[in-house]
Amino acid sequence: MSVLIFIEHTEGEIKKASHEAITYGAKLAEQTGDIAEGIVLGSPTDDLPSLGKFGVKKIYQVQNDILHQFDSQVYTKVIAQIAEESGAKAIIFSNNPAGKSLAPRVAVRLKAGLVSGATALPDTTKGFEVRKNVFSGKAFAHVSVPTDIKVITLNVNSFTVEENEGVAEVVQSSVDVPASKLKVINTTKTSASIALTEADTVVSAGRGLKGPENWKMVEELAQLLGAGLACSRPVADAHWRPHNEHVGQTGVAIAPNLYIAIGISGAIQHLAGVNRSKVIVVVNKDPEAPFFKAADYGIVGDAFEIVPKMIEAVKKVKGVV
Ligand SMILES: Cc1cc2nc3c(=O)[nH]c(=O)nc-3n(C[C@H](O)[C@H](O)[C@H](O)COP(=O)(O)OP(=O)(O)OC[C@H]3O[C@@H](n4cnc5c(N)ncnc54)[C@H](O)[C@@H]3O)c2cc1C
Repeated sequence: MSVLIFIEHTEGEIKKASHEAITYGAKLAEQTGDIAEGIVLGSPTDDLPSLGKFGVKKIYQVQNDILHQFDSQVYTKVIAQIAEESGAKAIIFSNNPAGKSLAPRVAVRLKAGLVSGATALPDTTKGFEVRKNVFSGKAFAHVSVPTDIKVITLNVNSFTVEENEGVAEVVQSSVDVPASKLKVINTTKTSASIALTEADTVVSAGRGLKGPENWKMVEELAQLLGAGLACSRPVADAHWRPHNEHVGQTGVAIAPNLYIAIGISGAIQHLAGVNRSKVIVVVNKDPEAPFFKAADYGIVGDAFEIVPKMIEAVKKVKGVV
């Protein structure tokens, strides 16, 4: 029996979220006395055996040209076959776009119970109980999963990655890969160099910046910190910034280690997408701005004075002239 972890990659690199999912799956396997196994679809350039350091013992790799494009229907069929082959009792995905589209489909195929957005290891002392976020992260629910097979999506940045010694065995699997019912004609990449859902630090700005011409300082701060760039919804709606940078309830939901919000009021719909950030820093000239209630650190002041000072401070720390 196994705990099967879906391992994702983009442009050859295994995603950081998958390192978390592997650590989580390996801990669960330890708890239930099962083996932690992984599944990789396609051909990442990253070294697969070295993923054993996160606790996975065996990785099923399926290499087929059809898998180069993400197609949730094809991926579902392949993952379900591997899950049956490996006798998976639990299947772990990251709670990101790919995981969110695959997990329910896999759960239906395997007649499994699904918990989306888990934030902690299941309590297996009496059954199988998982803690998950509800109401956009405002509350937790404890969900009991009575089915034989369980499917879990793990909230990104909610579980600490652990590295130990270990090398995973990689097995080439020849399961059936069905033809895709879709044909991708072309793919246009967004300008973002750092994917917001993967970013460790995100610098975000809102309507307080007055206009798109003032984003240079935000971009400079983000670049110095190696951070992703985000914005509030009105900023994207006004075309000051591209829509892929819009975070919140109707935008991208993120959970970086550090979220810096500049000139953003902190409306509930904005907070819904960023309140899982580990540390929140808010810059706002209005001391009554609601964002300060959610902030770990707050700076009351004009962004046009504060941000240049932040840039200078980061440059000093980094030794950049
Ligand atoms: C159904 C629904 C879904 C929504 N989804 C989202 C969503 O996903 N994401 C989202 O962001 N919003 C969303 N909204 C909109 C949300 O309610 C707010 O209107 C929006 O977040 C406000 O954006 P803002 O903070 O940039 O602008 P404002 O509310 O205009 O706030 C600007 C802030 O900047 C401060 N400020 C002004 N000048 C300066 C300065 N010089 N220096 C420092 N601070 C300054 C002000 O004090 C103020 O707090 C949604 C709304 C609805 C109804």
